[in-house]
This record gives sequence, C-alpha cells and structure tokens, in this order.
Amino acid sequence: MKAAVVRAFGEPLVIEERPDPEPGVGQVRIRVEASGLCHTDIHAAHGDWPIRPNPPFVPGHEGVGVVEELGEGVTHLKVGERVAVPWLGWACGRCEHCLSGWETLCDRQVNTGYGCDGGHAEKMLAWADFAQRVPHGISALEAAPLTCAGVTTYKALKVAQVRPAQLVAVSGIGGLGHLAVQYAKIAGAQVAAIDVTDDKLELAAELGADLVIDARKDDVGEVLRRYGGAHAALALAVNDAAFEAVNAGLRRGGRLVMVALRAHGTVRVPIFDTVLNGTSVIGSIVGTRQDLAEVFQLHAAGRTRVICETRPLSAVNESIDEVLRGQVKARIVFDLGAGR
Ligand code: NAD
Ligand code: ZN
Ligand code: ZN
Repeated sequence: MKAAVVRAFGEPLVIEERPDPEPGVGQVRIRVEASGLCHTDIHAAHGDWPIRPNPPFVPGHEGVGVVEELGEGVTHLKVGERVAVPWLGWACGRCEHCLSGWETLCDRQVNTGYGCDGGHAEKMLAWADFAQRVPHGISALEAAPLTCAGVTTYKALKVAQVRPAQLVAVSGIGGLGHLAVQYAKIAGAQVAAIDVTDDKLELAAELGADLVIDARKDDVGEVLRRYGGAHAALALAVNDAAFEAVNAGLRRGGRLVMVALRAHGTVRVPIFDTVLNGTSVIGSIVGTRQDLAEVFQLHAAGRTRVICETRPLSAVNESIDEVLRGQVKARIVFDLGAGR
C-alpha cells in the first residue's frame, strides 16, 4: 500500500510503498477511500507544537474508508462497513475525563496521524471503539472534512454555549470555518464571518453568514462592537493577531473560544477589559465520539454542506502549499478510491 510519510520535520512528505498493516487486538484495518487535509497535518509535518510526533509517521485524521479486516475481539463492526477515523484515535475510558464525557481531555489519548499512523494512505489501522460509523447517504468525500473540521467547530459552539439570536464571530473561513458558519446558523445565531481573502468571504456569505468582515481593511473589533459585540467568537485563523482582534469585538460576558493552534502562538488578553467586561477565554479541542455522531446526523439530514476539492495522494506536498497560500476554497480531500 502507498502512504504519505513525514520522514523529517519541515521536509516534503514522501510517498512510500509499505506492507498492509496488521490489526492488533481491538483494532480494524481500513481501506481508505478519502482523507481530508487539515491544517493540523501541516503543523504535524513541520513539528510546530511543544509535543511532537516521532518521524517517520503518516499524518491524516480525517480518514474515511471501508473496514476490511477485524482484529481480535472486535465484534461491533463488520467487514465492509464505512467508518471515519478522527484525531481521537484512542482514549483510556477510565480516567476522570473519559468518565465525565470529556474523553478529548484524556491524558493517555493517542492521536491519529500524530501518535500513530493516520489516514493519508491507502490502508490504515484504527481502534474499533473510536472508529465512527458513517451513516448511509454520506459519501466518503463528504464524511472526511466532517471528521475533524466538522466535529471541532460543532463542539466549539457547544463550548461557547451559543443560544439563538446571539451574535457569533467566526474568524477564519477555511476547512473549519466553513462548517462553523453553518453550525452557528443551525444554533440560531447571527453570524459574522472574518477572513483575509475575497473567495472565503464570498463562501461565508453563500453559506449563510449575515455579516462578512475583511480583516485586511476593517478593524474587526470595532465592526463587531458596532453590532453590540459578539456573544461568542471562534478563533480559527492561524494568526495571533486574529485572536486579539475578535477578542476586542466581544460584548460584555462574551466568550472567546481558541481553536487554531499556531506554532508558539501567544495572545495578549487585556486584564482590565477582561475583568470589567466579564469575558472568558476558553480552549476547545476536537470533539467526542458523540459529537461526531451528531455531526454526521446533521449532514445525513441535509442540514450542512461540505465544500471540498479532491486531489490524488501524490499531490500531498503541492496541496500543503495551496493551504498555506490560502488558495483552497475550504478543504482538500485526498481521493483514494472514493468513486469505487
Ligand atoms: P485553514 O488553513 O483551512 O483555514 C484558516 C483560515 O484562516 C483561512 O481561510 C485563512 O484565509 C484564514 N486567515 C488567515 N489569516 C487570517 C486573519 N488574520 N484573519 C482572519 N482569517 C485569517 O485551516 P483549518 O484546517 O481550518 O485549521 C485552522 C486551525 O485550527 C489550524 O491551526 C489547525 O491546526 C487548528 N485545528 C484545531 C483543532 C482543535 O481541536 N482545536 C482541530 C482542527 C484544527
Ligand atoms: Zn484536524
Ligand atoms: Zn482517559
């Protein structure tokens, strides 16, 4: 099987021929049909974060495909079923976080495409308990971006405790942001979409944003305050200044939800405004299996649109460049046989 491999941080990925991986106890082997390229894969390949993966490794945590072999002890999945393999590849199931519905905070978690090989390959392994069944009617190409971009923004809006009629600012209309706009609309909010490219701002309007703000020329905080300030802001742009800009646009009691993970990113939060205005800054990391099940349900019910463009896996390095240049409409998905 072919896999896109990070051999060294900051170097181009290499397409390698590898033997098919053998599923261990509790695992399944999947024939990957589609694998979304999340900006996190780029951080992984660059070794951007304080906790780094160990090269060589295969990135990708939006892998979707068909189960082709069951490891020992797997009883609830069948060969031939379509599943998605998210960032939360495994969690212990026993710690205080796992037991309180916060498996995404498990200390012992294993992350797909980071702590173990991921979806940018023709075959991959997954722990069966964390592989999510994809409902009938959702194609592999659509399921892929929902598996990280979808679940992450869906969860971030839950964390933000958004209620109908509130104003939600979505900063960064990329893979994550194009879905965030739609979930905020589903939650009943008014949505202000912020980006730095015309295409993304047009896309946000097309997906239902009530207001678009061009961060290249507008003062984001000032525009949001003109509308009374945002009740919640999702920081999805890989840019520290963009976090500060939306934070400045919160209304009293508003919540800034940090999601993007720029390397060594640091944000200045003014103490006086935060205290006097009673605002909060909250981190949000992906979502649980239940969150992903809900994301799939919404899509199966026709309530979300996934915007993606396909590439062959052999174009992995060019695709990374396209994302970094902001040239992708929303999400690139590697097509590994989705049409079969
Ligand atoms: P992306 O590259 O597809 O989207 C980023 C968007 O931000 C682009 O549309 C870009 O034009 C826009 N942007 C750039 N500068 C901006 C600015 N100054 N103001 C407003 N918008 C600006 O990336 P993505 O795949 O959507 O991921 C975004 C970030 O979220 C990455 O850092 C990724 O690692 C992180 N992420 C976090 C989680 C989590 O659980 N917290 C999950 C997935 C991804
Ligand atoms: Zn991701
Ligand atoms: Zn745990």
